Amino acid sequence: MSSKSDFYPDILLFGQLVEALTSDSKTFYDAAFRKDSNRHILGLFSINEDAAAYANLNTEEEIITKILNELDEIFDGQASEHYVKHIIQNWSKEPYIKGAYSYTFDNDQLETVDALKAPLDNKVYFAGEALSIDYQATVHGACQSGYAAVEQMLG
Ligand SMILES: Cc1cc2nc3c(=O)[nH]c(=O)nc-3n(C[C@H](O)[C@H](O)[C@H](O)COP(=O)(O)OP(=O)(O)OC[C@H]3O[C@@H](n4cnc5c(N)ncnc54)[C@H](O)[C@@H]3O)c2cc1C
Repeated sequence: MSSKSDFYPDILLFGQLVEALTSDSKTFYDAAFRKDSNRHILGLFSINEDAAAYANLNTEEEIITKILNELDEIFDGQASEHYVKHIIQNWSKEPYIKGAYSYTFDNDQLETVDALKAPLDNKVYFAGEALSIDYQATVHGACQSGYAAVEQMLG
């Protein structure tokens, strides 16, 4: 969200810092922090149940209204007062994405991943962040899984 003022701190975490990228917690952050810019951009990163509270709303207008109301409560009405415009990237609504990244597994992760990455007919091989055990949910996890799939193909 673009704002007329930086009424917010560099980062506003709900929950623990170490859990911020993997749990239900959400994080507001100064998206222009240390950038060569004098614009005020406030970001919100939210996943899982917390994100569902926004992502399941029907329109962008409902989402931004909910966010502004939350911020207004914390910052005494300053969010609405200084609001300029916003961009929302709702990955849950992207038909070929449907979310941010894999999170928890209903059953044992190792067993599930092993079953998912079993090739079809030794012709079709699978890779992606969800299939990385050590670096799940990351770009490097997706790359590592890709290399592992190629090794499996060649092996
Ligand atoms: C907001 C956000 C922030 C993130 N920040 C970080 C970060 O700071 N650092 C980090 O390491 N990771 C980050 N990640 C995670 C990282 O982006 C993913 O883990 C990584 O991109 C997964 O790569 P992938 O190849 O497994 O899947 P994807 O990148 O999702 O690739 C899958 C592709 O398959 C396509 N596809 C799906 N279905 C079909 C179909 N039926 N036919 C044809 N194509 C199809 C999709 O369009 C997509 O292009 C972030 C993710 C999000 C959403």
